[in-house]
Amino acid sequence: MSEKNICKSCLDSVILTEDVIQELIMETEEDLSKIVSVDVYEARLKICGGCPSLLYGTTCSYSGSIVRYRAKFKSKSCPYPGGSKWLEFGC
Ligand code: SF4
Repeated sequence: MSEKNICKSCLDSVILTEDVIQELIMETEEDLSKIVSVDVYEARLKICGGCPSLLYGTTCSYSGSIVRYRAKFKSKSCPYPGGSKWLEFGC
């Protein structure tokens, strides 16, 4: 990650440990009616992985969300300005 993509003022508060991220993801699975299929989830994460707005490898700079958490929900979308990158790929 290049240094220009690091927000020094909030660095400590936005970087979560892998354990915390895993805990968040596990919580999403308490209500399967609210989450997307594995295929859609993986497609969304692949798109985020190639997006210049992904910070620290975890966080969407537009929503401030951990993408591995946000991408789980049917009700959530990609907030990329000008249109959802997820929708471009049908997910
Ligand atoms: S703008 Fe969309 S594709 Fe990019 S990191 Fe955020 S949710 Fe992912």
